[in-house]
Amino acid sequence: MAHALFNKEAKTTSPLPVPTGPAGQARENQLFNEVRDVRRNVEINIGKACNNRCVFCIDGLPKKEDRSYMSWEDMKGELDFWHASGSRSVGFLGGEPTTYPKIVEAVAYARDLGFTRIALATNATKLRLEHFTDKLLEAGLSRVTISMHGHTADLEERLTRVPGVYEKKVHAIKYLIAKRKEGFLADGVSVNIVVNGWNYRSIPQMMRFFYDEVGLDDIRMNFIRPEGYAEGDPELTPLYTKVVPYLMKALVLSEKHWTKNTFTFGGVPLCVLPPALRSNEYLLKKHLGEYRDLSTDCSVRQEGEGFGIEEVRDGRSRFNWQDRKRFDLKWAPEACRACSKVELCEGVWKGYVDIHGEAEFHPV
Ligand code: SF4
Repeated sequence: MAHALFNKEAKTTSPLPVPTGPAGQARENQLFNEVRDVRRNVEINIGKACNNRCVFCIDGLPKKEDRSYMSWEDMKGELDFWHASGSRSVGFLGGEPTTYPKIVEAVAYARDLGFTRIALATNATKLRLEHFTDKLLEAGLSRVTISMHGHTADLEERLTRVPGVYEKKVHAIKYLIAKRKEGFLADGVSVNIVVNGWNYRSIPQMMRFFYDEVGLDDIRMNFIRPEGYAEGDPELTPLYTKVVPYLMKALVLSEKHWTKNTFTFGGVPLCVLPPALRSNEYLLKKHLGEYRDLSTDCSVRQEGEGFGIEEVRDGRSRFNWQDRKRFDLKWAPEACRACSKVELCEGVWKGYVDIHGEAEFHPV
């Protein structure tokens, strides 16, 4: 039978995205990595309203109904459901989760249920308000992942299209780092950079900025997913072959100069990486995001049937993120049919192939 990856239009029969193992145990759809946090994770999307307007946002301009926030009853129901299903890690995302009116209550509710890792994926603009950040920390927030994509005000504000946002984010990050030193945020603070056509040449400078000037110890770089505003945009979506030399420079710098820090990158197929890295399991497990990511389910507002593996019930779509990428959002180029890495490599964002085709990919 053909691998599901090779069917671009596949509408797989979804297994319920409910974990079957004991609480906290990851699903079996990722390769083993002893460094991975084994807690099972769920990401709850609170709605798509946002106070930044990133040029590459996958949501583009959301419909009015998608910009409304989920009700408090729905939030409690989701947290109850996922905790009962075995998840012990929860992330809140959007849109922008700090604008959700019940975000502090949601964090506290998750903590009281027994989630041990409670995270926000945020642009951090609102976290500059220290009293607000303090409330989240007191409620049990244990990790923050900050979306920031430039090391200068000019670059960050061109990408997010919000004047003044750079200073607010830097202030917020420094405050979070200070609170971590006080004993909060046990699961860390990281920056999540979307690598795109406007910033990839600055990758080494961004590392220096976030590690040495801002004081972070964890950087994640994700290759742009060309959907929403960036769909069909070759300027925002550079060729992998142009970006990889910069990522490799970053990897070498992290191995030589920032040895105590974490540097990972994701969304890059293995065949565009240098052979010396592809064959080095130690480095792959350390730096390849897909090897490190927690086993993650998602819950997002959804009207109508949805597509692919998602399970839609009561106005929410639920799916496993690793399966979603592999079966619905990414595409296996023709080269994958003869490739030995097909079980590890997730393939390529479909939107990338629509822009640049398949010429860069080859079996390894
Ligand atoms: S040929 Fe396909 S499976 Fe192999 S590394 Fe490239 S994209 Fe991944």
